[in-house]
Amino acid sequence: LLARQELRESNARTYPRHLPLAIRRAQGSFLEDLDGNVFLDFLSGAGVLPLGHNPPEPLAAAHRQLDELVHGLDFPTPVKDEFTELTLGMLPERMRTRTKIHFCGPTGANAVEAALKLCKTATGRTDVVTFQGGFHGSSLATLSVTGLVAQQAGVGGRMPGVHFFPYAHCHRCPLGLRRDTCAVNCAGLLERSLTDPNGGIPLPAAVVLELVQGEGGVIPADPEFVRRLRAVTRELDIPLIVDEVQTGCGRTGSWFAFEQYGIEPDVVVASKALSGLGLPAAVILYDERLDVWQPGAHSGTFRGNQAAFAAGVATLKVFRRDGVLANVRERSAQLFDRLAELRALTPRVSDVRGLGLMIGVELADPGTGRPESELARRVQRAALHRGLVIELGGRDDAVLRLLPPLTCTAAEAGIAADILHAALSEALA
Ligand code: PMP
Repeated sequence: LLARQELRESNARTYPRHLPLAIRRAQGSFLEDLDGNVFLDFLSGAGVLPLGHNPPEPLAAAHRQLDELVHGLDFPTPVKDEFTELTLGMLPERMRTRTKIHFCGPTGANAVEAALKLCKTATGRTDVVTFQGGFHGSSLATLSVTGLVAQQAGVGGRMPGVHFFPYAHCHRCPLGLRRDTCAVNCAGLLERSLTDPNGGIPLPAAVVLELVQGEGGVIPADPEFVRRLRAVTRELDIPLIVDEVQTGCGRTGSWFAFEQYGIEPDVVVASKALSGLGLPAAVILYDERLDVWQPGAHSGTFRGNQAAFAAGVATLKVFRRDGVLANVRERSAQLFDRLAELRALTPRVSDVRGLGLMIGVELADPGTGRPESELARRVQRAALHRGLVIELGGRDDAVLRLLPPLTCTAAEAGIAADILHAALSEALA
């Protein structure tokens, strides 16, 4: 199957190049290939499967819904109403009553585009501020605000009026500063650019950021940076969009990562894990004062996948019933403990970081700081041969990324850590 795919499918296919797997079926935290080999899936459909593969309740709910109504455009339906209620219910109470939802199916990129467009309409401004190393999607507008340079290759110019600023990545400060003496100069730089009447940038329609850069290498932003960013955008009345496509819906141990940063954004983008089953769903949740679109101003055919709504409702009920957020925090602590042991194997493990069950192990040369992309690739392969699926990330693909199902058990997390230990040892040999 892999060979047939290579022959017939777009050369742009990515996952099977590094993870040569043809999948027959999956259940819970496990995938099974065509030969019956079983793999622990710590990629979980690119962070899409909070309850693992084919979780029984969401699956049954989707099946029932398919018999009743599949496609609902943006008409009201009972299941959409319940989904809306529970999705808004993920927001802190203070935000809930003044938040509107817009369904922007079906992908994360669609929803980021909608957020940008909404803020442009609401403010009447055109420019956008975003950050180096971020990822917001593969469509042209989302690519334009994506700060991972490799993604831009061969596309020509970006959408005009996009301004990139350094992200608060303290482990490798883009400004070459040290956290204990920097006075969060990255935030200062942005503050000065936004407020400087001569030589600054035009007042933007929005600032868009990931609170933990996922594709960029699992980099949680410095909390002080985020607080100052929120303060200056509030002061200047610039909508702050947090792209929680990857961090949202429980991945970081709270419903949304912004809660752990103690801020309230103006727009939250959610997708990936929203249906809980891997059915496409994407929304923006935004402050009602931004609700300026006239009817028809932003449409789309696939905004009413009722099976995704039914699965999402069932998923959120399982979250509450089974204490899934608490499991995220416990497994996260367990994995951080165990992954710290990798440092004993080699000084080339330069950082272990993340939030909740979004974890990255950065491999770099301890002397030069040069990313160890080859080593990372070898670890990924060795892990696969030992039965663990993980992804790589970061500008140079030198960060091992763990995105397990949020329901993974202590035993599964332990096995994953054991395999990574063995895979790293093998890759170093
Ligand atoms: N934003 C972030 C933070 C993401 O991680 C992704 C996907 N990796 C996207 C946007 C784009 O989502 P999609 O692939 O569904 O368009």
